Amino acid sequence: MSSDAQCLFCRIVNGEIPAKKVFEDDEVIAFRDINPQAPTHVLVIPRKHIPSIDDMTEADVATIGTTVLRASHIARELGIDADGYRLVVNNGPGAGQTVFHIHFHLLGGRDFSWPPG
Ligand code: 5GP
Ligand code: ZN
Repeated sequence: MSSDAQCLFCRIVNGEIPAKKVFEDDEVIAFRDINPQAPTHVLVIPRKHIPSIDDMTEADVATIGTTVLRASHIARELGIDADGYRLVVNNGPGAGQTVFHIHFHLLGGRDFSWPPG
């Protein structure tokens, strides 16, 4: 499994930095965002270090598909599915990406406007 010793989220995956985990299996982990933007704000990430959506290759398709499927499972487990939720990926600094390890923001528990800011 590819990992980057300098990457914050790889360090959470490896247990070097604590996080409030809500889910984990052999491919995916999910934990509470440290600066929540909604009553429920969880980051769902592949264990594999892939910096951004732009860095995905064909070899990563199953990993990212599984990550999205786990996000829907976690939304149900946390009870935010009935009212609807946002699943957001920021790709690149201009879109607000600050941590370069693919992560899906799972946001719920409030209403969301469109278009997003
Ligand atoms: P981005 O801006 O890259 O889309 O999202 C990165 C997210 O990681 C932000 O929402 C930020 O609050 C969160 N974050 C940054 N550092 C930490 C940390 O050490 N622990 C946790 N749980 N979340 C973090
Ligand atoms: Zn990483």
